[in-house]
Amino acid sequence: MLWSGWGDPAKARELPEQVRRLLHDFLGVRAPGTAAVALESVRLPPVALPGPLLEALAKIVGSAHVLTSHEARVRHTRGKSTPDLLRMRTGDGSDAPDAVVLPGSHEEVAELLRVCSAERVAVVPFGGGTSVVGGLAAARSGFAGVIALDLGRLDRLLSVDLESLVASFEPGVRAPEAERLLAGRGLTLGHFPQSFEYATLGGFAAARSSGQASAGYGRFDDMVMGLTVATPSGTLDLGRAPKSAAGPDLRQLVLGSEGAFGVITSLRLRVRRAPAERRYEGWRFGTFAEGSAAVRALAQEGPLPTVLRLSDETETMIGLAKPDAIGSGGSGGSGCLLIAGYEGAFAAERQAAASAVLERTGGEPLGAEPGEAWEHGRFSAPYLRDSLLAAGATVETLETAGFWANLPRLYDAVRLALAGALGSPLVMCHISHVYETGASLYFTVVTAQEGDPVEQWERAKAAASAAIVEAGGTITHHHGVGREHRDAYAAELGPVGVSVLQAVKARLDPAGILNPGVLVPPAGPA
Ligand SMILES: Cc1cc2nc3c(=O)[nH]c(=O)nc-3n(C[C@H](O)[C@H](O)[C@H](O)COP(=O)(O)OP(=O)(O)OC[C@H]3O[C@@H](n4cnc5c(N)ncnc54)[C@H](O)[C@@H]3O)c2cc1C
Repeated sequence: MLWSGWGDPAKARELPEQVRRLLHDFLGVRAPGTAAVALESVRLPPVALPGPLLEALAKIVGSAHVLTSHEARVRHTRGKSTPDLLRMRTGDGSDAPDAVVLPGSHEEVAELLRVCSAERVAVVPFGGGTSVVGGLAAARSGFAGVIALDLGRLDRLLSVDLESLVASFEPGVRAPEAERLLAGRGLTLGHFPQSFEYATLGGFAAARSSGQASAGYGRFDDMVMGLTVATPSGTLDLGRAPKSAAGPDLRQLVLGSEGAFGVITSLRLRVRRAPAERRYEGWRFGTFAEGSAAVRALAQEGPLPTVLRLSDETETMIGLAKPDAIGSGGSGGSGCLLIAGYEGAFAAERQAAASAVLERTGGEPLGAEPGEAWEHGRFSAPYLRDSLLAAGATVETLETAGFWANLPRLYDAVRLALAGALGSPLVMCHISHVYETGASLYFTVVTAQEGDPVEQWERAKAAASAAIVEAGGTITHHHGVGREHRDAYAAELGPVGVSVLQAVKARLDPAGILNPGVLVPPAGPA
């Protein structure tokens, strides 16, 4: 993973000339962005943890698994949001951990939490490092130091129950490896977020991730049947049946807890038989409102495709649903592009039935090409971000969800807020995940960098977040809370809800060492 950008450097993408022209003519981009400093030049705070404490950690995991090198610390600094990358490009490593610690078992994690609680060392669980909400930048103040608890050594498939279709994994398994391990047994998880190449199973559960095929396979939290969690107060072992009426489901307390309550050390996940057949296609609708009505009809009447995504007019024109083709001549066309994918049993029958709904609701069939192009480029878009940052444009995404009746208001409010904060940005949107009662809106924003681009984006993000809250949406559908959405999350919960969250934190993590500053608002004066 590129430390100052996204993904495999070998897959870096040059900006097509057509995109450069768009940046210049439409967005007024005139000067290139700040080039990334060399990795050796990133400025890190001195290692705060005293030698004996580092030795105590090494005693638990082995000295080869406690890293304090410049490179290891840089590579575990923050996540992969655009502000994260902009800061790293300028060499700002001020949030770096003092050390990176790699445990090899649940017991080692538990022991590390015990020592860190006693010594007041902040612990940041680190999966794939792809958080986009500040989920990996712990508050330092009041702590002897900060460690990144890299779960990369916990990378095994533990068992597969072919009868129940439940697979047990350690948390540090990256998504492609999980799919590879399952494919050998004819199975799939079906979780394909755009961060697929690097994110881990533990990170998906901790941040309530949602993949591009969520219409068919569900969100990641739907897949979690059981969890083992090491907390400073002991171990939680949750989930002994798919569903239960035995009181509140504490699995839900761990899902989305973003490392603030404990460290997930294993997960029991629902898996499916790998699909023998995959069919992807495109449809065009005249307007976003018409397309939304069609998507709603599918969500409410069925049959639901496995993948369902509707771009608005701007996203369709730019061709964002086919990232590999952006700038390769011609725009994405007029109207709104809908991508539908059908996988697994009865794919052809489901496609025929869903197509009847799409036709009845005004869709024009475009055949397989747009769907296959989307599938081919589904993980490419993040690579363009690095090139845009280098060219002097800021690109970032944000997302929300709401009920169908409120979705148009939410859509307008976010666009208006971004335009108000940024002048004339390019704002694209698609419906990314659908439910019977509502959907998620995923916005991609491109703007010319002005002044301090981090400060410029933070202003825009604050305006968009305020608009989401005001318009009655949730602050996040799948990116999570981190530090960035903490205040808006608190507003969603209300004061009693916040006090419950704080009480849980105090019970499981009395010394407050786990990901301080993330998710849980600090307890104020009573
Ligand atoms: C380019 C890009 C595209 C993305 N696309 C999507 C998308 O399509 N859908 C989506 O849902 N998200 C997406 N994300 C966001 C991100 O990938 C998800 O939030 C993902 O779940 C994070 O997984 P990770 O392994 O990288 O976790 P990390 O980023 O390492 O950690 C995320 C949070 O969980 C905590 N954590 C990690 N592992 C554990 C553990 N074992 N126990 C307890 N806490 C833990 C961390 O402390 C942190 O707070 C995208 C991000 C990027 C950069």
